[in-house]
Amino acid sequence: MMVVAAYALAVLLPVLGFFWIPSGPGHGRVFDVGRAAGMAGFAILMMQAVLAARFKFTEKPFGFDMVIRFHQAMAALALLLLAFHPFLLAVGGAGWDLVTSFDVSGGILVGRVALGVLIVNVGVSIFRERLNLEFEKWRVLHGVLGVLLLVTIFAHGWAVGYDLTHLFYQVLWIAFLVLAVLVFLYHRFVRPAILARRPWRVTEVEEVVPKVWTLGMSPPEGHSAYDYLPGQFHFLTFRRGRDLPVEEHHFTISSSPTEDGQVASTIKESGDFTATIGATRVGDAVAVLGPFGRFSTALHPEDRKILFIAGGIGITPIRSMLRYMADRREDRDVGLLFGNVTESAIAFRQELEALTEGQCPKLRLVHILSEPGEDWTGPTGFVDQEAIKTHCADVGERSVYLCGPGPMSHMVRSALESLGVPSQRLREEKFSF
Ligand SMILES: Cc1cc2nc3c(=O)[nH]c(=O)nc-3n(C[C@H](O)[C@H](O)[C@H](O)COP(=O)(O)OP(=O)(O)OC[C@H]3O[C@@H](n4cnc5c(N)ncnc54)[C@H](O)[C@@H]3O)c2cc1C
Repeated sequence: MMVVAAYALAVLLPVLGFFWIPSGPGHGRVFDVGRAAGMAGFAILMMQAVLAARFKFTEKPFGFDMVIRFHQAMAALALLLLAFHPFLLAVGGAGWDLVTSFDVSGGILVGRVALGVLIVNVGVSIFRERLNLEFEKWRVLHGVLGVLLLVTIFAHGWAVGYDLTHLFYQVLWIAFLVLAVLVFLYHRFVRPAILARRPWRVTEVEEVVPKVWTLGMSPPEGHSAYDYLPGQFHFLTFRRGRDLPVEEHHFTISSSPTEDGQVASTIKESGDFTATIGATRVGDAVAVLGPFGRFSTALHPEDRKILFIAGGIGITPIRSMLRYMADRREDRDVGLLFGNVTESAIAFRQELEALTEGQCPKLRLVHILSEPGEDWTGPTGFVDQEAIKTHCADVGERSVYLCGPGPMSHMVRSALESLGVPSQRLREEKFSF
């Protein structure tokens, strides 16, 4: 709650001028709202760097995906406020030249550039896939445009801001800029450099099923692995040499905190970067940043009856949670509906089947294949409403943990809604944002 209060205070602090500094002759309420919109938009944009920087104090209470979604929503709100800002000032008495004329001060022109940069940055982020822009290129562009935005919006406010003649606002404006730039530099350059200087090492490379690899990783000598909850994820940046790409990607920790020594991720070859994962060798360096996420049964001891629904590689966090429950002999009643395309693609099959023999947790496992071979006698098709109803009649009494590809998750979400699972009892990990 402290984080929410601190954020709200930071964003609303500049708006105080609305009450405190008079708007002057000829300017009325609408002008003041325009001032407040500009100042709140400025503060929101300055705080965006903090939201994106993966600090534990923002991530831990809410979860990484919620913080990123909030970052996206606040960008949209800032865009709205800053788009209305000049119109409200114009209507409020500053005159329409502010919006329509090019014969205005340099400070106003810089403000227009800032608004243009904001529109481009938000637009490119929303339409990245339609623009065929690779994630890594988008990330660089997002950062460059972000810094340009911070600088131009600061310069605009400083040059023409109605309230910036007051010392309080000057100090506040400089503090915001310094905070945003320092956080950005730390997140993008300093922390990665620190992690790269004391890398973990790959200690195990195993192909668990075709095109799916488990990589074990150990911290540098003298350091211990971090504490994590089953189901959490981390960011990995492999530095393998041999012309292999150096990119940071999220991967679930597929090992359980109850396993000593190494931390593991299980990764499916699915795109440009993951296609190279099998080329990783024991001894390769990897920078590890984590753990993150709130998709964990460990955070919900009240969930006594659970249904896990996994699709393909979405089994990784569930494998971690099941292993953790088994090692701790947790007395929970668990169902697992595990959808795969073919039998040979079922990751962790033997291990999961072995877990069904224990009593704590009491696990019931159902494999569902969408393209079964001729000798498959189990259920076929997709994990849809019918399958959930057939294989887990008491789903309405369970907490559901869902992790799978986008289309499957979408279908399962609406099926669960129809089957009466309240949204508070649906916990989901998405493998993309
Ligand atoms: C919380 C979380 C946990 C995950 N856990 C696992 C796991 O345990 N095992 C597993 O195999 N996969 C996991 N993924 C998915 C994995 O991160 C992506 O498959 C991988 O990043 C795709 O990269 P690519 O270059 O191979 O694929 P591409 O086909 O190039 O990219 C596919 C999509 O992945 C996203 N993406 C690409 N590069 C990055 C990047 N550097 N950072 C963030 N997103 C990117 C983009 O949305 C892109 O459109 C997880 C994802 C998330 C968000």
